[in-house]
Parts: sequence; C-alpha cells; structure tokens
Amino acid sequence: MKGLVLSAKWEPREGYELSEFERRTGKAITGSSVWRHPKLEVKEVDKPAPKPDEVVIKVKACGICGSDIHFYETDADGYILYPGLTKFPTIIGHEFSGVVEEVGSEVQDLKPGDMVTSEEMIWCGYCTPCRNGFPNHCVNLEEIGFTIPGAMAEYIAVGAKYCWKIDAIAEHYGDEDKAFEAGALVEPTSVAYNGIFERGGGFRPGAYVAIYGAGPIGLAATALSKAAGAAKVIVFELSERRRELAKAVGADFVYDPREVVPSEVVMDLTGGQGADMQVEAAGAPTKTIPEMEKALAINGKIVQIGRAAQRVPMYLERFQVRRSQLFGSQGHSGHAIFPSVIRLMAAGLIDMTKIITARFDLDHAVEALERATKREDGKIMIKI
Ligand SMILES: [Zn+2]
Ligand SMILES: [Zn+2]
Repeated sequence: MKGLVLSAKWEPREGYELSEFERRTGKAITGSSVWRHPKLEVKEVDKPAPKPDEVVIKVKACGICGSDIHFYETDADGYILYPGLTKFPTIIGHEFSGVVEEVGSEVQDLKPGDMVTSEEMIWCGYCTPCRNGFPNHCVNLEEIGFTIPGAMAEYIAVGAKYCWKIDAIAEHYGDEDKAFEAGALVEPTSVAYNGIFERGGGFRPGAYVAIYGAGPIGLAATALSKAAGAAKVIVFELSERRRELAKAVGADFVYDPREVVPSEVVMDLTGGQGADMQVEAAGAPTKTIPEMEKALAINGKIVQIGRAAQRVPMYLERFQVRRSQLFGSQGHSGHAIFPSVIRLMAAGLIDMTKIITARFDLDHAVEALERATKREDGKIMIKI
C-alpha cells in the first residue's frame, strides 16, 4: 500500500541531554531538539495486519494538522519545529476516518464495513494517570502519526478501543463522502471540546466568549461555543480567509489583532463586563495572555490549548480581583468527548466541514503540506 512516510536524522542538538527513556525507546521527547533534515515522500509500505485487539481501517479522509506542518518545516539548523514526542521514520496523519476492513480475533464491538474515526492518543489504560481517569496524561503514550504509523496511507491498524462509529454523522449528511470528512474533523474538534468543556468546565448559555487564533482548533472552539449558547463569540485572527471561516462557523465578531487592541474590543463588546471564557488557540501566549487578562469577566476563565514552549508574564493581581482562573489543556481522549462531538455533528449543531478549504489525493500529499505552510487555509483534507 501507499503511505506518506516522514524520515529524519537522529542528531541531538549540542547541549541536549538524551534521557534514558529516549535512548531505550528511540523516541524523542523534544522532537525539535533531536530530529534533523526531515524528508517526506509517498512510498510503498507493507499493509498492516490487525493484532487481536485491533482493527484495520481503510482510510477515506485525513486532515492536515498544525503538528504535521511542524514536521515539514525546519529551523535554520535543519531541525523540525514540532517540539513533542516523536519517533521516525513513520507514516504521518492522525485526524482521520474510514471503513473497518478487518478485525482482530478479540474485537467484539466493530465489524467490517463500520464507518469510524479514531482517537490519536494511544493511552495505555494501565499507568496511574490512566487508572485515575486521565488518559490525556498517560505516561506510556503512543501517538498515531507521531510515534506509530499514521493515517496518510491507504490502511491503518488501530486498537478497537480507540475507535468511534460515525454512522450517525453519515445519517445526518446523507452523504458518505461528507460524513468521512466530518469524521476526520472529530479529533481536532475534540481538542477544542476538551479545553472549553472538560478542562475549563464550560460556560453558561448567554456567556461572552473570546477566541484567539482561528486555525482548525480555534474554528472548532468557535462552532462549539456558538452551539453551547454563547451570547457573543469574538474571534481574533491574522488571516483574512480564516476570519471569514470563523464567521461561517458562528463567530459574531472577527478582528485582525494587529489592527485593534483585543482587550479593548472585548471590554467594549461586553459592555465593560469582560469575557466569561477566553480560548488561547493561537500558540502565541506572550501576546494573547496579557490581552486576555485585561478582559477577564468576574469568574472569567482562560483555557490554554495552543502550544508554545515559552514563559509568559502574568499579572496575577488581575486574576485575584476578577476571581479568575487559567486552565492548561491537552488532548482529546476520555470524559465522553469523542462521542459528544459525534452527537453534535450528527444533530447538525456544528458543521465542521465548512472549514475544509482544499482537498488533495494521497499522491499529492507533499504538495498539500507545502500549501499548508502558508497558514491561510482552514483545513486541508487528504482524500484516499
Ligand atoms: Zn492534530
Ligand atoms: Zn497510561
């Protein structure tokens, strides 16, 4: 079968001390300090066979994620930009859907022909965080398309316990092709859901919400906030195209943050009361958090979803005076998140397919990544 394989050289940066874990497993904890000179190519690879608890999925759609772009882009020394857990070579791609083709001997709840999507985080279920109910913080984590083979390929093998059926989405759209596209968007939408509703504890209908960054996660946060009854959703985003997409999925107000002072805009639009929920989906917290803290409502919440390995100056006095909180959020597993996102899509309360702005076939996946580096698209979908 064909797959988009990423290979890179294991060349730890000068001064980067490899841990015992990294030497033993060949997995880099800080990918951007270890992997150099990445190369992406569509290659012929072996078709996977299912282990007893796995299913093999014939992939139909796989979205390009910001992390995939950070594998492709390098710094001046040739290192990948992605700072997280990685093991190469591997097939990339982790936001996908498809049809179950084959099931392992122990699989009971799925059968060939089922339409499914899958979590990306392969949590073990045995470590202390997993057993305590926090799969997004599993200490034995494997990640599809990061440390194990991903879905920009004709087939992928995945543990059945990570798969979720999307037949209800197909019923809603009455169109399988669209259902697979929506199914591939469940994962990024779940990342936003986890931030706002699980980690941040959500907000009441009628709340004011401000979202910084309208890439796919910020766009999902926008759609989810509107569906959850936000009275005003205010979005800040550099790209004009993405601001338009934010409007399409439910933003009431969109601004280029270079043209306004975001905190002043939020205070103005909320009649001086501030935002009840603010979402950092820009990965630029040194710029966004100082604005957010000036626009906190009493009981205001900030959720950090964007990634940035940076220290951020914060004025905690403001959090005391406004009785406010900041939540760190990572992942999308557990807490009924995937099934809830699937229900929202099946009910027509959110339509994330509106954010798809380009489609490529697998043979042109490298071109698709090249285009994604411009960061003007909503979601680019690889159709297989
Ligand atoms: Zn992703
Ligand atoms: Zn675990």
